[in-house]
Amino acid sequence: MVKELKVDREKCVHCKTCLDVCFKNVIEWDEEQQIPYAKYPLDCQVCCICETTCPKNAIEVIPDWDAKYYPRYVSTMREVKF
Ligand code: SF4
Ligand code: SF4
Repeated sequence: MVKELKVDREKCVHCKTCLDVCFKNVIEWDEEQQIPYAKYPLDCQVCCICETTCPKNAIEVIPDWDAKYYPRYVSTMREVKF
């Protein structure tokens, strides 16, 4: 789970590589601002492939460590069976 996908607008060259490499399809394109953003942050696996493949080093993955180790959201999505 990603807390924030930080994008440096000055550095971003709008190549959309980050969208292509995200295997979880977390990232979408903001047409208005012409930058990528995390549309599905809960699906992010914090693999940082988007960060490492960005040719301009314009994207930074800020993980939500609390949610990763104490996944509060999981309890509302799972049905517990005994
Ligand atoms: S890979 Fe980097 S430069 Fe390309 S769109 Fe994404 S943030 Fe912008
Ligand atoms: S860290 Fe991995 S899963 Fe998360 S947005 Fe980037 S490429 Fe996708």
